[in-house]
Amino acid sequence: MKRYRTLATNALHAGERPEDARGAVVTPIFQSANFLQREEENYHDVRYMRLSNSPNHQVLGARIAALEGTEDALVATSGMAAITAAILSHVHTGEHLLAHKTLYGGSQGFLDHDAPKLGLSVTSVDFSAPDTWKAALRPTTRAFYVEGITNPLMEVGELHAVVEFCREHGLISLIDNTIPTPVNFRPTEIGFDLILHSATKYYNGHSDIVAGIVAGSHDRIRRVTELLNHLGGSLDAHACFLLERGMKTLAVRMAHHNQSALRLATVLERTDGVTRVNYPGLASNPGNIRAAALFKGCSGMLSIYVHSSSRADRFFERVQIPRHAASLGSVESLVVRPARSTHLGMEKSRREALGVTDTLIRISVGLEDIEELIDDFTQALA
Ligand SMILES: *Cc1c(COP(=O)(O)O)cnc(C)c1O
Repeated sequence: MKRYRTLATNALHAGERPEDARGAVVTPIFQSANFLQREEENYHDVRYMRLSNSPNHQVLGARIAALEGTEDALVATSGMAAITAAILSHVHTGEHLLAHKTLYGGSQGFLDHDAPKLGLSVTSVDFSAPDTWKAALRPTTRAFYVEGITNPLMEVGELHAVVEFCREHGLISLIDNTIPTPVNFRPTEIGFDLILHSATKYYNGHSDIVAGIVAGSHDRIRRVTELLNHLGGSLDAHACFLLERGMKTLAVRMAHHNQSALRLATVLERTDGVTRVNYPGLASNPGNIRAAALFKGCSGMLSIYVHSSSRADRFFERVQIPRHAASLGSVESLVVRPARSTHLGMEKSRREALGVTDTLIRISVGLEDIEELIDDFTQALA
């Protein structure tokens, strides 16, 4: 499969299969559950939509692998389908994994509530404190699960150390890289085994599909695919088409998100009523040095603490441009109060111990004109 030198070019052309599409420049939607039988020797190679091997899936797998710099990649019906299939195909009953202590709500919920029922045990660790990890190891430990930039506090961990630790102790390293995206950070380049994304977010970028990605070596992706084939989490053809279209602009969108978020974070840091801005691109951020060493840019997500809960209420009443909605990484700006949305399922004491208080506002900076956005945030916080 042809790969090009840069991510921007790969996003447009890697993995094209014009021979499957009568020369069409855009991959058509192959709205067919099944395909004519060839000489398949393995169940997983029978051409059937649930087995994620239609031309739409094949183009996406090859293109995403080119963007990630991995041998192979797979799309799934959601980020959570990708994450759970990746974990369950590599960590089995009776085994144990380490996970960073603040994860995406769905991933945390799966590890807290579902993984134990399947006989997996999990220990939460701090991904910025490598000296604490060894004490959490067990003879059954198989994997270490982290995120590239966490949500909603935008922390950046000791990711090089995570990979080294995994190598030293024979663990599989998994990273949810939804927020940085491969434009800013390619985890495979520092040695991560499996890279996961909610493609619902930046990868697709337009708030119009739910999809997931797993990238890694041929062997690992084969294992994940075979489990996903049995669980039934394949992405439907129309969503494949939209994801392929959204991905074409990933490089230009991320460059804009990086720049706008840094500019908004810098302004908000000097705005009255804002007590703290969480953005790893700011010099004041505890993750700033790590982010500068690991990332090309810090993506479009930031969060702020305001003085009081009533001030946060007022912000949501007054703000005009961003949509007040969950999810992130889209062309339109989004604002949300994590304590009342993404972290609503967590007990108040645990949530507050993690810093998710009622005065925290999360911002996904979109592609609107940044000066107009800044004016809107400034008036809403005044
Ligand atoms: C949204 C999100 C997920 C879950 O993805 P879905 O596509 O909603 O299943 C996982 N990880 C992160 C970091 C996310 O933001």
